[in-house]
Amino acid sequence: MLSDLIGQPYAVQVMRNYLREGHVSGSFLFLGPARVGKATAAIMFAEAMLCERPTAEPDACGECSSCRSIEAGKHPDVRSVRPTGPSRILRIPQLWPRDGVKDFPPENALLHDLHFAPVRGKRRVFIIEDADSLNDDAANSILKVLEEPPPYATMILTAPNPSSVLPTIFSRCQTLRFTSVTPADIEAALTNRGLADPAEARFISALSQGRIGAAIDLARDTGVRTVRDTVLSIAEQLSSSTEPIRALKLADDLRKAGGKLVVSKQEAVDSGAEVGARQSEVAVLEILAYWYRDLLAIASGADESAVINVDRIDVLKRIASAFAPENLTAAIQIIVDIRRCVERNANAQIAFEALTLNLMTLRAERPTESSYA
Ligand SMILES: [Zn+2]
Repeated sequence: MLSDLIGQPYAVQVMRNYLREGHVSGSFLFLGPARVGKATAAIMFAEAMLCERPTAEPDACGECSSCRSIEAGKHPDVRSVRPTGPSRILRIPQLWPRDGVKDFPPENALLHDLHFAPVRGKRRVFIIEDADSLNDDAANSILKVLEEPPPYATMILTAPNPSSVLPTIFSRCQTLRFTSVTPADIEAALTNRGLADPAEARFISALSQGRIGAAIDLARDTGVRTVRDTVLSIAEQLSSSTEPIRALKLADDLRKAGGKLVVSKQEAVDSGAEVGARQSEVAVLEILAYWYRDLLAIASGADESAVINVDRIDVLKRIASAFAPENLTAAIQIIVDIRRCVERNANAQIAFEALTLNLMTLRAERPTESSYA
């Protein structure tokens, strides 16, 4: 139901206006950052169009057989396609039936029965997720459909921004903007659904950076708590040790810590082992950056509401009191730089070793007047 869509009041209002006025045929382009709920909204929009007992808002009832089968992904009149595999490119055989193409049987093509009337409901809804990944041939192949879909059909495309799709696609669709979800909305959604306690919700919300889909995956990921514990324990050791050999060992532990994340394992299945590994390394660096950010917040006298790892407040206070704030700023900059290297496929082992060796030199020592006395 549209009422369940988290943190997108504007988009919900616009979809309800379309439903109220009966303007649901044609083509829509949902624009906004990754994983903020665009594909979920497309399904909810379809649900509201096909519901057998729509509510007055208007919205889907969430209970009729149409709503239930859409929710289960089994409604014959609601279908979607999204890019998979390392290339993440949507090609013609994923949209139109083509014989003899490996991995894409004609009957699985999104639009193979576009010209047949709805099977069960009054409309048919075709969703193309991440339309920015359509190659030019595939994009050009749907221009006519977007321009003039059959009267019973609704096309919904999602993409990050207008410039990520061909102008010819953009100009044929009614656009609808989605925004990053606020931390407060994400925290509330996680705690209300029993997916995280308040302290975990704050940490997961920070890590998800406004992407509600990522936040829900992380909250369901039992690995994320273990990974955070490991990363924070390594961060503490880096603050108390001075031996380079120890830094090298911790670099190895740190780099491998993210392997316990289920989300990165899923990414490995979807997009290849290398992408999965990089994803988990980036996640580890984000967790580490939030740790130093918290230390900086405390060292600068911010109150607890500004702290992400709020359940570790005592440890944070103890360590922060030994750091000079400028060293913490430097630490965050080092992590940001290393993250950039990892994202650009630098040698991860060397990058992580540079990281821990550098962080160790910033260990808990406040420069004192008497140092050189
Ligand atoms: Zn219903």
